[in-house]
Amino acid sequence: MKKIAVIGAGMAGITAARTLVQAGHSVSVFEKSKSAGGRMATRDTAFGSFDHGAQYFTVRDERFMRALQQVPGTQALCKAWSASSVQVRDPLGRVIEVRKPSKDLHFVGAPGMNALVQHWATPLADAGQLFCNTTVKILKRHGSKWQLIAADKQVLGDFDSVVFAIPNVQAAYLLRQSGAPAAQFNGLAATEAVTVAPCWTLMLAFPLVQPGLGQMGPQWNVAQSTHHRIAWVARESSKPGRSPIERWTVQASAEWSQEHVQDDEARVEAKLLKAFAELTGIRAEPGFSQMHLWRYAKTLTPAGQAFFWDEHLNIGLCGDWLIGHRVEDAFVSGLSLALNITAPA
Ligand SMILES: Cc1cc2nc3c(=O)[nH]c(=O)nc-3n(C[C@H](O)[C@H](O)[C@H](O)COP(=O)(O)OP(=O)(O)OC[C@H]3O[C@@H](n4cnc5c(N)ncnc54)[C@H](O)[C@@H]3O)c2cc1C
Repeated sequence: MKKIAVIGAGMAGITAARTLVQAGHSVSVFEKSKSAGGRMATRDTAFGSFDHGAQYFTVRDERFMRALQQVPGTQALCKAWSASSVQVRDPLGRVIEVRKPSKDLHFVGAPGMNALVQHWATPLADAGQLFCNTTVKILKRHGSKWQLIAADKQVLGDFDSVVFAIPNVQAAYLLRQSGAPAAQFNGLAATEAVTVAPCWTLMLAFPLVQPGLGQMGPQWNVAQSTHHRIAWVARESSKPGRSPIERWTVQASAEWSQEHVQDDEARVEAKLLKAFAELTGIRAEPGFSQMHLWRYAKTLTPAGQAFFWDEHLNIGLCGDWLIGHRVEDAFVSGLSLALNITAPA
């Protein structure tokens, strides 16, 4: 049995941690946010919830399918949601509808996108092995072990192995900050070569629209738009198990977010609100409006291999950015790294 630290409680980290626990290891997970989920995020507001990170997930990988079907209590938390009917703008700027037949089933977590990872993290939390509100700042060699130090300088413990399940930029920064020998990690250069785009996200609620009196704005729930500012809009209230108050999540395109990543939040909000009105025809003043900037939202150039593992340092890296930009990629990466660690030498 090894003592293993996992940094990051998103889909990759929790998948890796569960697999390592099943193989008999003692695993501690450290997460800087107040709960597990990572970019499979849900923000609760007085007007209902917003999935302001991942919008839905596909299930192409058989192992992911098996986990969703077989982990007790999971099926009830994953609901089918059709996101395959999309609206786009034609070259004249008119909105046209494209029915996109999709072989993939689309799912959302219920009651929110964070429900799935939080459920899978429950056994760790119950065992007192999930440490939220804990940012890992540095790794130090301590004899043959790794010592993890938190942002408040607290020593988090000594571990045989460390799994990084955090975005590539943050993983590379942490490794470099730690100095030798962590900075000699064999996957560091490849990690730094990965490119990831940010995403500005706007959450809007129109509480004065009476549910049941007909929907406000367009008669569609999802648009993958070619508007230069917006890549995606979704009616939150159309998702299963959500409150009926009219709510929209608006996600800016990778290019536009990149261009405006340093801008003042209020300015970005005004621009996205204008673009939202152009796309949906909804010009009413929202009763609630909030912004979120995802600094590491979408992988543009992945590493091209499911994980990195340095058998001399006993350090591994997993996350969606290794192979793609989707929830499923995070699952596959976390699982692959854990299986590699548990494989007999
Ligand atoms: C706006 C947006 C829209 C998306 N849409 C979709 C979609 O429709 N479909 C889809 O499949 N995917 C989508 N995704 C991608 C999907 O959310 C990710 O692929 C997946 O959630 C990544 O999981 P992960 O575990 O690799 O990383 P994350 O979810 O980012 O988890 C990493 C965790 O590490 C924590 N952390 C970071 N640094 C530290 C530290 N030093 N110490 C402790 N903890 C730390 C973070 O707080 C976070 O919880 C979207 C993402 C965004 C942002």
